[in-house]
Amino acid sequence: MEAARGLVRSKFFSAPFYLHFYVTERCNLRCKMCNIWKRKSPEMTLGEIEQCVRVLKKLKVQNIVLTGGEPLLRPDISDIVKLFNDHGFTTRLQTNGTLVTREKIRALAEAGLKNITISLDTLDEKKFDWICESKDLVQKVDESLDLFAEYIKGFIVVNTAVSRLNIPELPEIVRYVNSKGAYASLVPVHLHSSGMTTSFCYGYDEEMIVSKDLLPETEKVYAKLIKMKKEGYRIINSEKFLRASLDCFRTGNYSWDCRAGERFFVVYPDGGVAPCDVFPPLFNIQSDFPKKFRSAEYRESARRLREGCDGCLLGCWRETNLLLDDFATQREQMHLFFRKKTGAHHP
Ligand code: SF4
Ligand code: SF4
Repeated sequence: MEAARGLVRSKFFSAPFYLHFYVTERCNLRCKMCNIWKRKSPEMTLGEIEQCVRVLKKLKVQNIVLTGGEPLLRPDISDIVKLFNDHGFTTRLQTNGTLVTREKIRALAEAGLKNITISLDTLDEKKFDWICESKDLVQKVDESLDLFAEYIKGFIVVNTAVSRLNIPELPEIVRYVNSKGAYASLVPVHLHSSGMTTSFCYGYDEEMIVSKDLLPETEKVYAKLIKMKKEGYRIINSEKFLRASLDCFRTGNYSWDCRAGERFFVVYPDGGVAPCDVFPPLFNIQSDFPKKFRSAEYRESARRLREGCDGCLLGCWRETNLLLDDFATQREQMHLFFRKKTGAHHP
């Protein structure tokens, strides 16, 4: 119901649908495709975040992703979740899983957290540790998923950054994720490129680039994934997004009708507001934000930034547009929700 209300408000009354709220840029990992951990923005206090929550409520935003960095590095993360939950937002937390403990997950669930996302880029322990400069990360994610299953009652999503390193194993990852009762999210890795005006949050590693020689295999794998989705495997991406991903691997084209800064935007740890995560902030949420957000000047700045951008396959943003504009995607997502309610997923 809340999602439907948010959808109507965004579609017909220009309310933003979706927001990435960075609670920190600190992270205990060093993933190769990420620049966030290199940044050092100061963090808002709980009291300052509470002020933001009131502002966001005024703007009638519905969906909030609490992200980072690693959000579990903040000792007050449960209080932050409770703030958003008490104000009626649909909230999801993104974690790399390394700091998950039973106590933390129980506290988050008690604070009202219903949806959580964890990253898993490969089932190959050595490879995943290499990508994230970590140790025993697959094992840690596996244990975290078992804890989530006990405490988190909404959507548990496993996010896989699709790259040259993991394309052949994507169907296996989906089967594994499903065996844990979770949903797979497959999003092509976002690397900064020469066409991008900035590499604000995204890094670069040549070994992740999907080159043409891998295209026949990629075609087969994506055909299989689309078939699995139709069969009822828990894949949270829409079919159109999966097809757009494949198209991008084929052609290199990822342009789309982006509405960054209107339908969605990001808030950085210090309150800086940007149309999406590839840009530095345009202004601060703590200074007269609703007025600025609705001003012609802000709309024009966001439009200019979008025009200078080649496009992307950032799942959250592209799926937001599809959900708001595409009837087939709306129907798919309703089926997904219904299947979750009734437990009618495969296998
Ligand atoms: S991708 Fe996430 S887990 Fe990895 S370094 Fe960046 S913020 Fe940390
Ligand atoms: S297409 Fe839109 S959401 Fe994607 S990187 Fe560009 S401005 Fe951001």
